[in-house]
Amino acid sequence: MDQCIFCKIAERAIPSKVVFENEHVLAFEDLHPQALTHILVIPKKHIATLNDATAEDQSLLGEVILAATEIAKDRRISTSGYRLVANTMAGAGQSVFHIHFHLLGGRSLAWPPG
Ligand code: 5GP
Ligand code: ZN
Repeated sequence: MDQCIFCKIAERAIPSKVVFENEHVLAFEDLHPQALTHILVIPKKHIATLNDATAEDQSLLGEVILAATEIAKDRRISTSGYRLVANTMAGAGQSVFHIHFHLLGGRSLAWPPG
């Protein structure tokens, strides 16, 4: 996707602080962190929203989530607690239309979210 900012980050056309990468998944620091740990975990494949994922993406999305749990362990927030959030569509706050999970931790997180 030519105009997608996260595809460009995955291709390294836009710089970011990468914290994890494998064949299918990339994770990088959020530009505007909302917690001590705020990492975005994305599939390298362009999928605009969770609504657009299909059965073909089942293992890919599993890989993304498992990568996030490994990063949480590395960051030592797996026992203190973290949140994995995929804002989906504008009404939920999605501003970049390439699936991403926010990995948030390192502070106490209120519930329900706003
Ligand atoms: P959303 O609002 O779609 O749930 O989350 C998009 C996230 O991407 C936001 O938290 C925003 O700070 C982050 N973001 C937007 N542009 C960039 C960028 O160019 N680089 C990085 N590292 N994060 C970005
Ligand atoms: Zn994309």
